[in-house]
Amino acid sequence: MSAKIIDGTAMAKRLRAAYTARAEALAAQGHRPGLTVVIAGDNPASRVYVRNKIKACTEAGFDSRDTEFPEDVSTATLLAEVERLNNDSKVHGILVQLPLPPQVDAEAVTAAIAPHKDVDGFHAINLGGLFGLAGDFVPCTPAGAMEMLRQEGIPIEGRHAVVIGRSNIVGKPMALLLLQAGATVTICHSKTVDLPAMTRQADILVAAVGKADFVTADMVKPGACVIDVGINRPESGPKAGKLTGDVDFAAVSQVAGWITPVPGGVGPMTIAMLLANTIKATEIALQKAAKT
Ligand code: NDP
Repeated sequence: MSAKIIDGTAMAKRLRAAYTARAEALAAQGHRPGLTVVIAGDNPASRVYVRNKIKACTEAGFDSRDTEFPEDVSTATLLAEVERLNNDSKVHGILVQLPLPPQVDAEAVTAAIAPHKDVDGFHAINLGGLFGLAGDFVPCTPAGAMEMLRQEGIPIEGRHAVVIGRSNIVGKPMALLLLQAGATVTICHSKTVDLPAMTRQADILVAAVGKADFVTADMVKPGACVIDVGINRPESGPKAGKLTGDVDFAAVSQVAGWITPVPGGVGPMTIAMLLANTIKATEIALQKAAKT
């Protein structure tokens, strides 16, 4: 059996074309979508992610920029920057690139972003949306993974979804979105006993671990849909220096029914969801302006 590859690059391209058209329409009304990314320190991976996000937003016709701070930046400085952006009516979306340097209180900085500008969806109010409470934005990576399942027509309701990983930015929101869509969900993590016994039950298996080739073929139920969120660059071995997911793609694609590649899977969809959230933030700002 050879799995169908879910092409995140092509899917994201189609979505981005639609968001570009929407951005043009908003700009014609005098409301060009604006995104500012705040980045602190010299983390090379963060710099690549920010560059890709800004490029995608610029190509879609957004007013997108970044504000950069040195590695030794203080929490107070970043809080002042977030406050400035909160009060700038041309900035509809604010994204603080994580991780922040260790001396910074990342929770306080995230909490300071106005919820209606929090296009990353990490503010507590937006996380409440995952519980069916108030909240406008869903975190981009799990939102992108869900969009892939929907567009591919993968049945979710009544199916068993297993998520490996319980971080606040990927694992937990992913599990809650699958739950909202009617799946029976199991969340696994480093303390899970007999992980392969869990993952072999999955109709939908999501890997968000951060370890290259962690999911092997014997961990996958034949015909399952495997979503690989991982972004790793192994330092040694045959894949040294190469962008590698959490799933052993070559072997697992012989067992699974569907599989997302790395690169070209969840990554581009994450960026597409950032565009979607920034458009939504602009529309929210317009609605607010119309009411005052
Ligand atoms: P974290 O390190 O925050 O979380 C990793 C999770 O994996 C933890 O919950 C951890 O368990 C679990 N884990 C680690 N080892 C094992 C193990 N041996 N068995 C079972 N579970 C294990 O990572 P993130 O959630 O932030 O990211 C996950 C991956 O997704 C990374 O590769 C990251 O680069 C990638 N990523 C990709 C994005 C994209 O756009 N495609 C965006 C964001 C992240 P425990 O909680 O017990 O420690």
